[in-house]
Amino acid sequence: MLIPNSIATENLKHPLWENQGLQLSIKRLDQIHPKASGNKFFKLKYNLKHAQIEGKSTVLTFGGAYSNHIYSTAAAAKYAGFKSIGIIRGEETLPLNPTLASAKAQGMVLHYVDRTTYRQKTEVAFIETLKKQFGDFYLIPEGGTNALAIKGTTEILTTEDKAYTHICSAIGTGGTLLGLANSLENHQELLGFSSLKGSFIHQEIADGLQKFGIIPQGKVNILDNYHFGGYGKHTQDLLDFIRWFYKEFQIPLDPVYTGKMVYGTLNLIKKQYFPKGAKILLLHTGGLQGIAGFNQRFGFALPL
Ligand SMILES: *Cc1c(COP(=O)(O)O)cnc(C)c1O
Repeated sequence: MLIPNSIATENLKHPLWENQGLQLSIKRLDQIHPKASGNKFFKLKYNLKHAQIEGKSTVLTFGGAYSNHIYSTAAAAKYAGFKSIGIIRGEETLPLNPTLASAKAQGMVLHYVDRTTYRQKTEVAFIETLKKQFGDFYLIPEGGTNALAIKGTTEILTTEDKAYTHICSAIGTGGTLLGLANSLENHQELLGFSSLKGSFIHQEIADGLQKFGIIPQGKVNILDNYHFGGYGKHTQDLLDFIRWFYKEFQIPLDPVYTGKMVYGTLNLIKKQYFPKGAKILLLHTGGLQGIAGFNQRFGFALPL
């Protein structure tokens, strides 16, 4: 079974926001499960339930070599009693990086495909080939975003969170943001910080809202200028910020998603974006598993 821990929200104290009459809190979704952590827990929850209902014994999904989604799916599948297969983009490199080593240790079968093949991940013919090779499975798309994932991420904000005026979250595929938009109250503003480079994300979110029939009650604001060079990219400024935040609050942030989102929020505070009296909630969506691999790859020592 995939059993969640209770989620704490911590109040952060610092003159940067207190002097402006703002309250800043962080909801620790990263602590919901030791391995299936953060927003991925919510995205997987109903997918695994559905796989059970459909009588499937195996789940299959896609991801890159450092993917939080691969890591979490491997763990969640194991806890829920499924076999799992991960279709990994690129060639196998040994020794396995910490993400893939963990996925494998959780029992995930890793199958590597080249980038051209990987791009066919949503094509029926490719899925059929995978079925011939691996037998029947329940398919979870790359990044885990589908209608059942959004049903799960709609549960991230709870009754207590109605007290907040602003909700801040990182965006990858947008499945988390769509669920948050689905549960937004009319007095709330949702700020989504894209971790990918490009203004395409505005259309992507608009399409997602339409596709899943979501009409947000509050305001949704997508920010596309805190990507730090693009997905998986970083700058010295971002790394320094993550270290500073850890020193101040003893809360680790990952360089792919949460580091960019918290940086962006604090930058907006500095620019006096938020009205006096605003109660801002940061969503710590997890991703801490990726720090070990990041440190190893770039020779850094980010706190984890
Ligand atoms: C996957 C992930 C996201 C992005 O979630 P989407 O639903 O794909 O937008 C944000 N934060 C962390 C830590 C993640 O692992």
